[in-house]
Amino acid sequence: MARVGFIGLGNMGGGMAANLAKKGHDVRAFDLSAEALARAEAAGCLAADSAAAAAEGAEAVVTMLPAGAHVEQVYADSLAGVAASTILIDCSTIDVTTARRVAEGAATRGIAAVDAPVSGGIAAANAGTLTFMVGGSAEAFERARPFLEDMGKAVVHAGASGAGQAAKLCNNLILGSTMIATCEAFVLAERLGLDAQTFFDIASKATAQSWSMTSYCPVPGVGPESPADRDYQGGFAGALMLKDLNLAMAAAADAHAEVPMGARATELYTAFAEAGRGGEDFSGIIRMLAEAAG
Ligand code: NAD
Repeated sequence: MARVGFIGLGNMGGGMAANLAKKGHDVRAFDLSAEALARAEAAGCLAADSAAAAAEGAEAVVTMLPAGAHVEQVYADSLAGVAASTILIDCSTIDVTTARRVAEGAATRGIAAVDAPVSGGIAAANAGTLTFMVGGSAEAFERARPFLEDMGKAVVHAGASGAGQAAKLCNNLILGSTMIATCEAFVLAERLGLDAQTFFDIASKATAQSWSMTSYCPVPGVGPESPADRDYQGGFAGALMLKDLNLAMAAAADAHAEVPMGARATELYTAFAEAGRGGEDFSGIIRMLAEAAG
């Protein structure tokens, strides 16, 4: 078992750090929030006084922070001095450019780093069933893999530095668009007098089937249990979907890629958040579409 530094113990990082401790690692944890730090201590981690102290002497340092600016700041201020034997693993969802820049910065000091964003929400973080998509060299991936396996059910090498973030953003670009397409089809079906359950039974076995339809149906009482059955609470917040879509839009602009469906999905999730609904599950956008239809 290894010494692991863990920085960022929020909704996701708290459960992930706890799982590393459960697997027997010596986890030195840090968060700016004293409350988050106390929860990590109760879950078997050792509280560190600073991010640098959490990283000192660690074989691996995992970061799970809100956005690219936080990752860049922690890498520059607290992780610049780690030993070359340390592998840096950033699991936050951030922009591809920043992910590549922090990894290149580490490499100039002889330190290996990977971007390893996750698919799966808070429940998967707590249960240790996240999927990690990893960007970095083959050697860095192999060094990061055992730690990621202790927090997830699948660990996939996506390619060179930044490829993990690229996979995550492209995945959520599809997810945001298919969710809206599924929602608007259910709204139209209802207006046409088609029963929602009947439409589900057909579409989930026909060419319209997707994860948004079959596993996470946005209509209450239809399909397997989903946030729609809990008044759109829990699950994946609309605000987080919007964050990921904005990152995908920025990446598309940099790469000169046409993303018309993603652009429209971004506009609609922006309207959803501006209506004060960003805390609802992202499938709750069906209610906004139904209201807009009058
Ligand atoms: P969160 O806001 O709950 O947690 C972030 C934590 O980082 C907070 O506890 C905050 O105090 C801490 N922090 C910020 N700056 C810090 C610093 N300089 N030093 C130490 N700690 C610092 O966010 P979250 O929901 O845990 O999400 C983390 C990342 O995972 C985000 O990039 C998010 O997009 C991604 N993600 C979230 C989900 C989800 O369902 N919540 C799912 C997939 C991916």
